[in-house]
Amino acid sequence: VAFLIGMTSFLFVVAGQISPLPSGGQLPGDLFALNIASKIRTDRNATTMASSDFGRIMEAAPEAVLHPATPADIAALIRFSTSSPAPFPVAPRGQGHSARGQSLAPGGVVVDMRALGHGHRRINVSVGAGYVDAGGEQLWIDILHATLQHGLAPRAWTDYLRLTVGGTLSNAGIGGQAFRHGPQITNVQELDVVTGTGQLVTCSRDKSPDLFFAVLGGLGQFGVITRARIVLEPAAKRARWVRLAYTDVTTFTRDQELLISKKASEAGFDYVEGQVQLNRTLLEGPESTPFFSSADISRLAGLVSRSGSGAIYFIEAAMYYDEATTSVDKKLEAVLEQLSFMPGFVFMKDVTYVQFLDRVRMEEEVLQSVGVWDVPHPWLNLFVPRSRIIDFDTGVLKGILGGTNPVGVILMYPMNTNKWDGRMTAVVPQTDEEVFYTVGLLRSAVAVGDVERLERENEAVLAFCTKEAIQCKQYLPHYTKQDGWRRHFGAKWDRTVELKAKYDPHKIMAPGQTIFRSPT
Ligand code: FAD
Repeated sequence: VAFLIGMTSFLFVVAGQISPLPSGGQLPGDLFALNIASKIRTDRNATTMASSDFGRIMEAAPEAVLHPATPADIAALIRFSTSSPAPFPVAPRGQGHSARGQSLAPGGVVVDMRALGHGHRRINVSVGAGYVDAGGEQLWIDILHATLQHGLAPRAWTDYLRLTVGGTLSNAGIGGQAFRHGPQITNVQELDVVTGTGQLVTCSRDKSPDLFFAVLGGLGQFGVITRARIVLEPAAKRARWVRLAYTDVTTFTRDQELLISKKASEAGFDYVEGQVQLNRTLLEGPESTPFFSSADISRLAGLVSRSGSGAIYFIEAAMYYDEATTSVDKKLEAVLEQLSFMPGFVFMKDVTYVQFLDRVRMEEEVLQSVGVWDVPHPWLNLFVPRSRIIDFDTGVLKGILGGTNPVGVILMYPMNTNKWDGRMTAVVPQTDEEVFYTVGLLRSAVAVGDVERLERENEAVLAFCTKEAIQCKQYLPHYTKQDGWRRHFGAKWDRTVELKAKYDPHKIMAPGQTIFRSPT
């Protein structure tokens, strides 16, 4: 008897109180007669591992977990599901680093992507052609190490590198290089995809372009990425990594926008992001960043209290270089001269290129050591139009969040709209502005009641944007109703529905996104 479980089977989990898993139905017995049967596990160890994610908010058990050795194994599973009288859901799981159950498959089968290749790194660098072919299951950190052996590296990165290629390309993959190179999805030349009908298709801008564009930012809705061809550039050896402090949001955003503008971008930083530290968080709570010394933090706290500002803002930027330190010093000096950060509040580190790109690993280790990594993460990421970022700062950062003291990070940095490809499924604010901001409220729930409190604040933030008509779009989006998704996709909704009907007509793929209801 095949079956499907609707979205209601997702359980909401309160910090530290994991509810029992729903007992779903059974998969069709003849699944276990297929030649992939030996790679399917139904034991509780396997299904529990695939029942939750980094967010620790949603929990739902699959009936089974497939450990594929090859993309053909995934195709066989999907073809079996779609040819069953009642198809069952299938969700690829990269690292499970989503926050809202996006990689879960209640009552269906989770495909544990990390099994692909029998433990062999499926990473092949083409030095002459300047690209790397990487399995969808590969971690970006492993791609970095493999490409560096040839003096090359991808151009666009996420802040954290223990994420899979398929996982970030299903969203967008954003970071401080996106202002110049676009998100990771615009740095891909070709994909191998197992579609929701079980076909193995190689696609690109020229070959099956509708599938190529659908899958990039496609939230796993159209198929499973099993290989991506990623553009490379010559890699630097070192990075000058700076943080510049501001107490005034207008000056902060003006300088950020200067740094990502075409003129400054050519001669300036290779990476530009920004963070917001709310007043009270400076001296309280576990410190997650090894960047500042305690003396720096005291100076910064003094700056905040003197200025009377509710927040302190940091531009975080990096300039890559090889050996010639004098030329990087000159270049850096020339860029800093154009900026209006608080005099004397420039903090600098000189690190290797790998140390810079892998910097969040250090934060992870700090948080792991004080037990606040494996906790619920009710994260909210928003893309905010440039014209409303100051309103957002006043109403949300200094308003709704102003009195709280959360553990975590608030990111805030601009990107250039023209570096995104509108043909892809990924969604950005639908305005004609040249720049939009990403604001990441990356907060952790460490005490009893934090999940509910942070979720209430997130709701209030979204309600504020609606009330003030700020055309925000969620990044790593989460909606429980199709209406929310319809609004999220906006002008792209009809096309998304059309492509879903073409590439996953049974609506079995990545049900944890809760965009399309699986058939019952
Ligand atoms: P999973 O969580 O396993 O999967 C995500 C979704 O993609 C699911 O729906 C899944 O079914 C689907 N999927 C997984 N693999 C495939 C595949 N091969 N083919 C098709 N669909 C697939 N994101 C950024 O953009 N920038 C950042 O700087 C950034 N920093 C982060 C830092 C941390 C500490 C964490 C936890 C997350 C961060 N993220 C960032 C978010 C991250 O990109 C997403 O959560 C991403 O989905 C996680 O990748 P994953 O490999 O664990 O995917």
